[in-house]
Order: sequence, then C-alpha cells, then structure tokens
Amino acid sequence: MNIPLVDLRQQYQSLHSEMNAAIAKVLERGDFILGREVEQFEIAFAAFIGTRHAVGVGSGTDALFLSLHALGIGPGDRVLLPANTFIATALAVSDAGAEPVLCDVDPTSFTMDAESARRALTPNVKALIPVHLYGQSANMEELMDFARRKGLLAIEDAAQAHGAENRLGRVGTLGAAAAFSFYPGKNLGAYGDGGAICTNDDRLAEQLRLLRNWGSTVKYVHRVQGYNSRLDTLQAAVLLVKLHHLAEWNRQRRTIADWYRNELRELGDELIVPSEAPWSRQHVYHLFVVALKRANRDVVLQHLQSVGIGAGIHYPVPIHLQEAYPHLGGVGCFPIAERLARQILSLPIFPELTQEQVRFVCHELAIGIRLAG
Ligand SMILES: *Cc1c(COP(=O)(O)O)cnc(C)c1O
Repeated sequence: MNIPLVDLRQQYQSLHSEMNAAIAKVLERGDFILGREVEQFEIAFAAFIGTRHAVGVGSGTDALFLSLHALGIGPGDRVLLPANTFIATALAVSDAGAEPVLCDVDPTSFTMDAESARRALTPNVKALIPVHLYGQSANMEELMDFARRKGLLAIEDAAQAHGAENRLGRVGTLGAAAAFSFYPGKNLGAYGDGGAICTNDDRLAEQLRLLRNWGSTVKYVHRVQGYNSRLDTLQAAVLLVKLHHLAEWNRQRRTIADWYRNELRELGDELIVPSEAPWSRQHVYHLFVVALKRANRDVVLQHLQSVGIGAGIHYPVPIHLQEAYPHLGGVGCFPIAERLARQILSLPIFPELTQEQVRFVCHELAIGIRLAG
C-alpha cells in the first residue's frame, strides 16, 4: 500500500469534467488577469468565510505581507507571532520592513500561547499574527482580549484553516484582516499559487485592491506605490469549482480524524493525539499531527516511509532556530516549540483517504513505535 501525505490527483479525477469546462471557459475568453472568475470567487469566498470582502492575491505569503503593509505596519514596528509556524508568517513581517517577535505555543493545541505573547510584548509591538495551525483556530478569545487591551492589531494567518470555527465565530472574521493561502495542498487549493485577504473593513479592502495591482484600479492611474500580486483568473476558476465542495471535504477530514483517534486509543501513553481545543468549534484538520512522547520520532518516520506511508514533519525547525533568522532567540528560548519540533509527526490526511488506509497507517505507526522504543 502506498499512501501519500496528500493526494491531489484523486480529487482532480472526481472533478474532472466540471474542472476542465471551467478552465476552458477562461482560455476561450482570454481574460487572464483580474477576469470574471476573480470577482465571482471573491464574492463567493467572502460569503463562505462571512466577511464583507475577500481580495484575491498571488499567494498566502502575499496576503499576509499586503495586509501588514495596508495596515501601516513597517520599519520600526514589531509583530508578535508563534515560533512553531511555517516560515512565511515571519517572512511576511520582514518583507513589510517590520521585525518579527516570537512567542511559544500551547502544549496541547500547538497554537500561539497568549501567556507567552504577553511576556514577549515590548513597546514597539503593533500587531500580532495568530496562526490557526493544522486547521484549528488559535485561542482567539484570549488573544483578541490581549490585543484589545494593548491596542494591537490582529492579523489572522488562516492559511491552514478555511472553514475552521471557534466560540467567537468563523476563523478569518475576527482580526483586522485574515490571510488565506490556496497553495495546492491546502484545504482549498488552486492548481498553482494563490491567496486572499478577508476583511470587514471597506477602506482596507480598497487599499488592498490598489496594492495588489501596481497601486491602480484605473489603467495607468497609480495612486500608491503598489505591487504585482493578483489571483489569476484561471486559479479563481479552479477555486470556484472547489469551493462548492469545501464544506463536504472538511466534514470528511473531521471523520478521518475520528477514525484516527479511535485507532490510536491504544497508543494513548505513547502519543499526544490531535483533539478539539476547548475554544474550538470546528477543527478542519489540514494536517493530522501527533506528538511522540517517548519513541524516537525520526526512527518512526523512517519506518512509515519504508512501508510507503508519506508521513511528514510540520515543522522540523522552529523559526528562531532557522538560519534565516539568527537574531530571534537561541536554543531554549521557546521550549515547547523546540520539544514539538523533535516529537511531531504528520500522518496522511486528505478527504479521499479510506478507513482501511487509516487502519494501515495506525498499524504501522504502532510497529514503528515498538521499533523505536
Ligand atoms: C501555506 C502557509 C502560508 C503561505 O502561503 P503560500 O500561499 O504558500 O504563500 C503562510 N502561513 C501558513 C501557516 C501556511 O501554512
């Protein structure tokens, strides 16, 4: 049995004729830049998330960067973010000319820890970026309360959490802006790069529409010094087809997570298994990340790979230990993120994964743990 970490081909096969027709329509019309489907998708995606606006941009990284830039965050400013995230969260801050400030993560949900954020606060911090990691909302009640009391802007990194919910509402509706990624492997993925910013702020949305298009909404009239970062019409057409299936795919991911939890119950002493955090209402399981309490993770990973299971690590090196960021704190600064980087293991998850495949993965995981023990 060969089980990849994610399988995009099965999904394409199930959408084949609808998808090909949608792509052909764009090819025949030829409006490749800011064409018809871009606006259609923006309206549909904003409705799905529950914000007044969605602005389609070139990637999730650009969605974060353009949000920070449009909110006036730049040189001299500092921005709080968790040490356990994909590097793009930090890069967007650096790209904007601001300085990332890291904090540690919560030991059970692995998302940004509010207490650690409070400790990391310094006078020049203007914003924080809660990351809704692996498909689960960060603790937005505590983080938004902290942001309000300290006068900080919150920009949500929702790149892994399309459709996730917490007790306050849907992820992407809670901060000043929220960045989504449509990287192919995300819960809603394009056939290339893409991203969007969701916001309820009319002026911010207008500013983002300028910034993504060389500072222009009227041809050759440039109101600000902008960028070239638009969601392609072809990608918007792909995303429109897929958006209709997103709720159903997310439900299936939650079912698969239940299968995993059932199968992994006997390994309870060996593993931290993903669960719904107290503040969460809908984890959408972009990834299914377990943490190995005792067994050597790399031995277990190697065993899974040797039997054809595409397990992975998200992420093996915390931001402050990356060579790209030598000044954000050394070894020991964020002990939970550092421990997780050694212990975590992402098991395959995608909507088409079968119960039999889940059983096989769990069976081999148990063997791997015995070998590593
Ligand atoms: C994927 C991802 C991004 C970046 O999105 P791209 O579309 O790949 O630029 C940012 N943050 C997180 C947490 C991500 O998972």
